[in-house]
Amino acid sequence: MNLNEVEILYSQAQIEVRVAELGRQIAADYAGKDLLVLGILKGAFIFMADLIRKIEGVNLQLDFMSVSSYGASSQSSGEVRILKDLDSSVEGKHVLVVEDIIDTGLTLGYIRELLLKRGALSVKLCCFLDKPSRRKGPVTPDYLGYAVEDHFVVGYGLDYAERYRYYPAVCILKPWVYEK
Ligand code: 5GP
Repeated sequence: MNLNEVEILYSQAQIEVRVAELGRQIAADYAGKDLLVLGILKGAFIFMADLIRKIEGVNLQLDFMSVSSYGASSQSSGEVRILKDLDSSVEGKHVLVVEDIIDTGLTLGYIRELLLKRGALSVKLCCFLDKPSRRKGPVTPDYLGYAVEDHFVVGYGLDYAERYRYYPAVCILKPWVYEK
């Protein structure tokens, strides 16, 4: 990690503990049920990989969707576009949507409505990070890692212009990096 460009917000060790707690909570809530875990690419892939291995004793299926996000800018466009749809049907299934971060809530609000329209039995949202101060609609995560202030964060799957995703910690990107 280049500590000139970023400041650590949650360390790898802290993340590990929090993800295990979320996994236990989800396992208890879905005990005895089948669950489709839907990761929103690309940001959620690292969180999802860690999380699903902590949801013990639940019969899981996995799928992915990719939607448009910030691109190379650090501001949300508000536009939601499906770049890659699920491979499987959600009809009659309990779906847990896994997302890296919820900001305005536009992305997850749209995905939740779409899944319900397609006949999902239930839709719950699991986000690693939440910026509640930025919300523009009535969307709250059912499972949340951490609520954060309005910083632009990278690492643990989150990028800035496709960089930093592999950083093991959640980091605040120093503004000079994206303001230059
Ligand atoms: P929303 O639709 O809730 O405004 O946007 C959610 C998406 O915006 C996230 O999946 C993520 O791609 C992007 N996003 C929002 N805040 C941040 C941030 O602080 N850092 C990064 N890297 N992406 C963010």
